Amino acid sequence: MKIEKDTVVSLRYVLGDEKGKPIEQGTKPMVYLHGGYENTLPKIETALDGRMPGYQTTLALMPGEAFPVRDESLVQTLARSRFPKTPKVGTRLEHQGAEGEHGRVVTVLQVKGDSVTVDGNHPLAGRELRLTLTVTGVRTASAEELEHRHVHGEHGHHH
Ligand SMILES: [Zn+2]
Repeated sequence: MKIEKDTVVSLRYVLGDEKGKPIEQGTKPMVYLHGGYENTLPKIETALDGRMPGYQTTLALMPGEAFPVRDESLVQTLARSRFPKTPKVGTRLEHQGAEGEHGRVVTVLQVKGDSVTVDGNHPLAGRELRLTLTVTGVRTASAEELEHRHVHGEHGHHH
């Protein structure tokens, strides 16, 4: 069947850099409820509307479309004592906020003396990306899924 409002779409995806070199390949299919439920990017819905299983397309995602643009205020220098052990440059770790608020995943940029510089931006923030999508399945959404505005079952929500 065709992708239209109130269908559940299954996709395989490959995320690549601006030249198309793969960065991330979905190991599990991506599923979403089609029809403006904000389950996925509007650009994806527009590209897939009316398409059938087997359809493949590559979308250019500008900085800020899939991931937020870079926020330089998320680059911070912290005391080494804030970390349970000295972190390695290039590693990603969850760092606990000063007041014990929910941790943010950061990338360690530099360890120098007693200070550690971390970057809280998503590694793909601010980059132009290529997203290749292959439609692997389309089905009618259930009344319950429409009511909840998301997909249930395999690869969807469980509750
Ligand atoms: Zn639900």
